[in-house]
Amino acid sequence: MRSPVTDYLGAVLRSCIDDGDEGEVATYIPELAAVDPDRFAVALCTIDGTVYAAGDAEHRFTIQSMSKPFAYALALADRGLEAVLEHVGVEPSGDAFNEISLEDNGRPRNPMINIGAITTHALTGPPDATAEESTARVIEGLSAFAGRQLEVDQQVYASERATSDRNMALAYLVRARGKLEDAPGDAVDGYTAQCSLVVDVRDLAVMAMTLAAGGRNPVTGEQVVPAWVCRQVLSVMATCGMYDAAGDWMSHVGMPAKSGVSGGVLASLPGQVGIGTFSPRLDRFGNSVRGVRACERLSSDMGLHLMQTPEVASHVLYGVVDPDDDGDRMREVKLQGVMHFAAAEVALRELERIPEGDEPIVLDLSRVSSANAVGRLMLREGVRRLERDGHAVRVDDPDGVLDD
Ligand code: GLN
Repeated sequence: MRSPVTDYLGAVLRSCIDDGDEGEVATYIPELAAVDPDRFAVALCTIDGTVYAAGDAEHRFTIQSMSKPFAYALALADRGLEAVLEHVGVEPSGDAFNEISLEDNGRPRNPMINIGAITTHALTGPPDATAEESTARVIEGLSAFAGRQLEVDQQVYASERATSDRNMALAYLVRARGKLEDAPGDAVDGYTAQCSLVVDVRDLAVMAMTLAAGGRNPVTGEQVVPAWVCRQVLSVMATCGMYDAAGDWMSHVGMPAKSGVSGGVLASLPGQVGIGTFSPRLDRFGNSVRGVRACERLSSDMGLHLMQTPEVASHVLYGVVDPDDDGDRMREVKLQGVMHFAAAEVALRELERIPEGDEPIVLDLSRVSSANAVGRLMLREGVRRLERDGHAVRVDDPDGVLDD
């Protein structure tokens, strides 16, 4: 059987093409101006590493600003949150991607704009890393996110480096404020190489899914960065990833995302999907017109908006068995589903109704699929309190969902 998902992606592309061809290809990096503006592709990666793609999925392009969240992830993993926050903030700038956005203390406002990304590049690798070592770390790290060895497009690199006066100015400014660890020229060299790594939409989807899967690449199985890093990166992508259009994007599409001037967009829905799109015509914010359109469509068709109210915990109680008078049947509370705060709270309320005394109780967790830390804590505490009240509690937990 041919997958309906692939056909669906093809239909999304066609409908986005029908909606027009507005936007302009970026020309400030001369080499980018040479691209065919009609190229259009989309890919989607699931949590188990299945990748679907449609359109010009074989076409390769430079990653540009979509590299920023991943370099930020590597800096966080290598140096820790505190050290990175000392150098780069996490506030949306409300400015264009190449603006001088510094806080009063000299910190770039966030790692998703150029000034913050140049600073972040220099924070990768161990604290004593040379500029070359940081760049090597970024290439190796981004390759791990993609699950294959990525290469620098030397022509795009040379083209951007020859015209990067503005990025040089930004680097000198942060250096003067004591926030840039490397010499400005070295940092811009490394950052430009980072932006010139060559990817396709499948790579973007896998990279986005790796962030959405707590740092574990779903294709290779490699844990690229720790889960806490992904939470931090996705948060900053949600507020700053689409530059000046971040608010519009969040309300329409509702996924942490990042765009690049080459025309790519990547989006990560935690625990669910990674998306990559490519179409070179950009809107006035520097985001791909058709890429944004495709993501809007995917989000609304597939219900991917992060802020959409999830299924509420209304079916936590699978069943409650009341004891009979001659003591043949024990009181049983049977739970089901995922035990997070809201679900465990429903369960605790049921346990609260049990009168004090020494009647035996069975807590049946055999239909509970998983529990997070707070869900485990709450259920264990419920059991502890029942025992304190005098009950003998038997917990049926065949899958060990209450174990750490
Ligand atoms: N390399 C580009 C630059 O520094 C990246 C910008 C972007 O993709 N928005 O200008």
